[in-house]
Amino acid sequence: MPSSIMRNLVTGGAGFVGSHLVDRLMEAGEEVLCLDNYFTGRKQNIERWLGHPRFELIRHDVTEPIRLEVDRIWHLACPASPVHYQHNPIKTAKTSFLGTYNMLGLARRVGARLLLASTSEVYGDPEVHPQPESYRGCVNTIGIRSCYDEGKRIAETLCFDYQRMHGTEIRVVRIFNTYGPRMLPDDGRVVSNFIVQALRGEPLTLYGDGSQTRSFCFVDDLVEGIIRLMNGSQPGPINIGNPGEFTIRQLAELVREKINPSLDLICKPLPQDDPLQRQPVITLAQQYLGWQPTVALSQGLDRTIADFRERLTPSRRA
Ligand code: NAD
Ligand code: UDP
Repeated sequence: MPSSIMRNLVTGGAGFVGSHLVDRLMEAGEEVLCLDNYFTGRKQNIERWLGHPRFELIRHDVTEPIRLEVDRIWHLACPASPVHYQHNPIKTAKTSFLGTYNMLGLARRVGARLLLASTSEVYGDPEVHPQPESYRGCVNTIGIRSCYDEGKRIAETLCFDYQRMHGTEIRVVRIFNTYGPRMLPDDGRVVSNFIVQALRGEPLTLYGDGSQTRSFCFVDDLVEGIIRLMNGSQPGPINIGNPGEFTIRQLAELVREKINPSLDLICKPLPQDDPLQRQPVITLAQQYLGWQPTVALSQGLDRTIADFRERLTPSRRA
């Protein structure tokens, strides 16, 4: 194997975003070590690469140290859906802190560059709208979302302390709500919930009155952004997200319109600390990475719905 080929470690590589990143790296002719504990990841997501000479699969939990020879670490391992990260919140906090600590230790040892998948959740329930990277956030330290929000905040802190103390090369991306093919049907996130409910002919569940907003980024756009960040010279943190802002009710209406306009929308209780609004300022991504999203919500939803139809219809899977 020529030494010029980049050796990439993708933690959380069997997950939703990770598997799309693995595809891009493999298609670019690079070497990929995909590491996952399969908590929310699935082997099917990366099965097209099994047996490929440039691809290796490692079952491992990032809360345990590991020794590997790599050039780049894309550190994505962490459940992202509130349902999954709240399932075992202590484990989520361990994954965020110990997982990032272990991966930074590895990066330092072998001189690799590490990219951390952080989140818009570091802004909490924001009092500043839209959110620039300079906003320091409004996060509850003791709520049901705190394991994830505070976990990602300390993970960012660790990255910058490794950079200051050891000169470790870091990149930090703050990812806003991302959707697309391969989300788990029982993932619990809003886009997958609405699509699965509509395809099953069930009412779509609005938490609260559906007036809270989110900004939805198609996964291909996100992956392009994080690749540019890794290859560039800015450590970040940099927001990557689609500034198009929608209420959750608007999203439900759009999904219903595309799948089955006769379905009901029903209201359920709003979970604790659910942020009221979220929209990224992407000036830094535009300026430093020449990046901006290219897939509109309607178009991205069509591609996501097609993928769910394929997976949820047994005859099509056979
Ligand atoms: P996902 O749940 O599909 O993927 C996470 C992956 O990490 C899964 O494959 C899971 O099995 C693996 N994992 C979890 N804990 C692990 C551990 N302890 N050891 C090893 N592997 C472990 O989620 P995703 O949407 O693909 O998110 C990927 C990353 O991006 C996460 O770090 C998440 O916090 C971040 N992010 C995602 C979004 C989004 O909207 N998708 C938004 C903000 C941030
Ligand atoms: N949501 C909803 N119905 C659902 C799932 C989620 O109304 O079936 C809402 C949720 O309360 C939140 C928004 O949609 O306000 C986005 O939720 P998600 O879990 O996708 O992501 P996050 O809250 O982390 O942004």
